[in-house]
Amino acid sequence: MFITLEGIDGSGKSSQAERVAEIIKGIWKDKNVVLTHEPGGWPGGIYLRNTIIETHFSNPWAELFLFISDRCEHVERVIAPALNEGNIVVSERYNDSTLAYQVWGRCLPEKDVRTIINIAKLPEPDLTFWFDVSVDVAVKRLSKRGNLDRIEKDLHLLERIAEGYKTLWRENPNRIKRIDANKDEKLVCMQLTEELRKYAEE
Ligand code: C5P
Repeated sequence: MFITLEGIDGSGKSSQAERVAEIIKGIWKDKNVVLTHEPGGWPGGIYLRNTIIETHFSNPWAELFLFISDRCEHVERVIAPALNEGNIVVSERYNDSTLAYQVWGRCLPEKDVRTIINIAKLPEPDLTFWFDVSVDVAVKRLSKRGNLDRIEKDLHLLERIAEGYKTLWRENPNRIKRIDANKDEKLVCMQLTEELRKYAEE
């Protein structure tokens, strides 16, 4: 089973990732959970992650291809082997990030980006949690941490990315479950537990 966590920066995905893994272990007791992330979630991937984050790309295609390249290697080295061994894989960010950030955020044509994602023949997630947070709340959280990066300082860009996630959720109601990430951590964790239990019973 392949689960992805998605949402804008400051939506709380990273804070909840370990908890999601614990909840899964409680429900699917005979399974191992492999928790991973993008960009950079493979051995050596930190170099690509730093390049992606530190380079101010003028051309959004250049950025897109690096994210795709990172994902292909991540799938090859981490995700696919873990799934083949029967583990449950939880990845912070995956294809929906590319659509939300590079299509809605960077305004690349959706059809072309989808074609590139399809060419890469990547596994589809079974379940995705979209951490839906308002841009105001996200920016407050990020400011508190004192690490607003270039994307997070551009509120219009963040708004567009958030709109992208909303559209993807509306288009894929079976796979993408909306989590109200404006709420405090305990309530978010309760909703995740509820959704995972429901999914296990289906
Ligand atoms: O989620 P995380 O902080 O690890 O993401 C690293 C950076 O890459 C963030 O600034 C995020 O906004 C950006 N990003 C992006 N396009 C993606 C995925 C992440 O610009 N498809």
